Amino acid sequence: MTRAVNNESVQVIVRCRPISEKEVDAECTKVVSVYPKRGVIEVENPKAKADNEKNKIFTYDGVYDWNSTQQSVYDETVRPLVASVLEGYNGCVFAYGQTGTGKTFTMEGEDDDDNRGIIPRAFEQIWSHINRTTGVEFLVSVRYLEIYMEEIRDLLKAKNTKPLELREMTGQGVFVSHLHSQTCQSATDMIRAMKIGNHNRTTGSTNMNEHSSRSHAIFQISIEMAEAEKKSVKMGKLNLVDLAGSERQSKTGATGERLKEASKINKSLSSLGNVIYALAENSAHIPYRDSKLTRLLQDSLGGNSKTIMIANVGPASMNYEETIITLRYAYRAK
Ligand code: ADP
Ligand code: MG
Repeated sequence: MTRAVNNESVQVIVRCRPISEKEVDAECTKVVSVYPKRGVIEVENPKAKADNEKNKIFTYDGVYDWNSTQQSVYDETVRPLVASVLEGYNGCVFAYGQTGTGKTFTMEGEDDDDNRGIIPRAFEQIWSHINRTTGVEFLVSVRYLEIYMEEIRDLLKAKNTKPLELREMTGQGVFVSHLHSQTCQSATDMIRAMKIGNHNRTTGSTNMNEHSSRSHAIFQISIEMAEAEKKSVKMGKLNLVDLAGSERQSKTGATGERLKEASKINKSLSSLGNVIYALAENSAHIPYRDSKLTRLLQDSLGGNSKTIMIANVGPASMNYEETIITLRYAYRAK
C-alpha cells in the first residue's frame, strides 16, 4: 500500500522489527500492534493488572511492522526526500531508537538486494537520476563522520584520530574543519566510501557493538548541479544519520566514564528532539547550538529542508518501557 507523503517538512515514521529468537526463547510476549493504514501504533502494558488498564495509542505520519520491506520504507518515505535533494534542497534522515531495534538494518541494511537499506538505495536513486539527466553537470562528494562523546572523528581517514573542530564562517555556515571530502563518480564509489567508513568506525574501538551504539554516524552527500544553459548552480545536501542508542543508562547500571558518556549521548538526542519539535511547532527560536549534532546539521534542518525521523522499536514485552519512551520521543517530534 502506498502512503501519500504530505508536504510537511518533518515526517515521523515508526518501524517495529520482528520478534527475535532470543525474545521468543525468553518467552516474551508481543506487546506492539501496528496499523499501517491509520498510522497507529498500539502498545499493551505487560504489567497491567486491571483489565481496564488502557493500551497506549500513538499516531504518526507512517508506521511499518515486522513484515515491512526495505523497499517499501524507502519508496514511501525516503525517495521523495532524495528527489528534492536532487532539485537543490537539503535533507536529513535519522534512525532513532534503543540498541538492537533496527537502526543500522534500516539505514545500511544487508548486502543482498532485498535487504539493502536506505543508504545504498539513496546512492542508486542519485546515480540513476544523474545518468538519465542531460544538460546538467553534476559534482557529487561524500563525507562520513561520527560524533562520540561530543567529539567529531573523520571516518574516511583511518589515521585521523585527532578530534575535528566545528567552525563557523559567515557565508559558509557551520562546517567541520579538515574533514575529508571525497568526490564520487558512481554508486559503487559511494558504497566503497561507506564500507571504508564502517571499517574505520570499528577499528580503534575495543568493542564494536558498544562503540557503535554510543556514537552518531553521519553520512553526508553533497550534489552540485550546474546548468550551463541557465547559468545556474544548485546544491543539494543529504545527511543520513544512524544515531546512538537511546536507551537510558540508569537501567544498565552505568557508572563513572560510562555514565558521563551516557549523559552526553542523551544530551545530543534530547537536543535533536528539541530542534525537531521547535521546527514542527514553527517556533521562533530553534535551539541548534545545544549539541554538536544539531550545530553540524543546522543548514539541513529547518528552512526549505526536509527531515525524516525513523523511530525504531522492538515488539517484545521485555522492552516495553524503552518502547514507550521512544514512541513518546517520536510523537513529540511529530
Ligand atoms: P541497532 O542498529 O538499532 O542496534 P540492528 O540494525 O543492528 O539494531 O538490528 C538488530 C538485529 O535485528 C539485527 O540482527 C538485524 O538484522 C535485526 N533486524 C532489525 N530490524 C529488522 C527488520 N526490520 N527485519 C528483519 N531483521 C531486523
Ligand atoms: Mg546499529
